Amino acid sequence: MPFEFDRLPEKEACQAALDALDARQQQMVDTVITWSKVNSGSRNLAGLDAMEAIVLDAFAPLGAEVELIQLPDGEIVSAAGEVEVVKNGRAIRLFKRPEANRRVLFTGHTDTVFAVDHAFQQPVWLDDNTLNGPGVADMKGGIIVMLNALQAFEETPLADKIGWEVLLSPDEETGSLGSAPLLADRARAADIGLTYEPALADGTLAGARKGSGNYALVVRGKAAHAGREFFEGRNAVVKLSAIIGELSALTGGRPELTVNPAVISGGVAPNVVPDMALCRFNVRLKEPEDAAWFEARVDEIVARHSEDDGFSVMLHGGINRPPKALSDANLLLMDAIRSCGAAMGVGIDYVPTGGCCEGNNLAAAGLPNVDTLGVRGGLIHSDKEFVCVDSFAERAKLSTLILLAFASGQLDDVLAAKA
Ligand SMILES: [Zn+2]
Repeated sequence: MPFEFDRLPEKEACQAALDALDARQQQMVDTVITWSKVNSGSRNLAGLDAMEAIVLDAFAPLGAEVELIQLPDGEIVSAAGEVEVVKNGRAIRLFKRPEANRRVLFTGHTDTVFAVDHAFQQPVWLDDNTLNGPGVADMKGGIIVMLNALQAFEETPLADKIGWEVLLSPDEETGSLGSAPLLADRARAADIGLTYEPALADGTLAGARKGSGNYALVVRGKAAHAGREFFEGRNAVVKLSAIIGELSALTGGRPELTVNPAVISGGVAPNVVPDMALCRFNVRLKEPEDAAWFEARVDEIVARHSEDDGFSVMLHGGINRPPKALSDANLLLMDAIRSCGAAMGVGIDYVPTGGCCEGNNLAAAGLPNVDTLGVRGGLIHSDKEFVCVDSFAERAKLSTLILLAFASGQLDDVLAAKA
């Protein structure tokens, strides 16, 4: 059933909370400027610590319980083809009224793609409504929208009808490998999920999302002088090239499945048969069952080439974001959010995307969710990243309406479809 503002109890108090968000518009913009200046690249643990302190301070007025969760170490494959351990930051978990019988999980991330030594570190105004800066859209701006919506909602008489939880991860931009078990666990404890990736600049939200996996493939052969003992060598670059051809040929093997060999390296000099070659590749897939299809084929390719005399092939990585298919409950939630937008005169459309985010993880754990409830913006992951600042109050109101709809029982059809 579409959301109707007029069916809310205590309408005047709800309207007052929404109006208060207009009054906080400038404060939200000032906050994103401050937060954008704090580098919090996924590998900058000191920067993530700084963001953690800032976020805890900002959320403190909500009076939530706080839990800081150290993520386990991760692994990366170095340029030399060696598996190395990397440290992850802490996830921030804030929760209030966990005993309530309607529960919403808010997720987001404090990390950005911009490393501490990247040139892009400062916000700059492009025009009166457009702020360029690291994380202004993805997603420091989104966390600010989330925070302000929660503040507005907590000011209404409906607040005690909902238990909410905020989960902010420090590793989303590296694929949420460390926080994935936590996302799944908290998703299972909630009824609906709201995630604060940016909407498109025109306000369009993401619907279905492809799944994604990142891999490193390392071939080791045998070095030899290219002139004197060529046939003693085992050329890892040639072997890797053959494997890349086979991987690439998996594109289209399932509808919309793509394989992107992206980074290659190997060899030391033209007169040396190379003994190591490395390829990093990404796969995107549309249907959950495509994962098993793809993994079986990659495993077969690796196993077959590993049997070649003098070569070894190591595959590292996996599918870290399952495809986000839209369940009936998810479609109902999307409809309800569209009607929340309509109630405030904002049209909401959804488009499927090849990109992926924490919303994939939540959906895989059975949680209906909409994952682009942050600011309007664009060109994320580049030094052109921007936010349309008039979207702060607008999107905070949208999320407040979603919470009011949920609290007043107007989303109970989503819960029924999920059950
Ligand atoms: Zn993001």
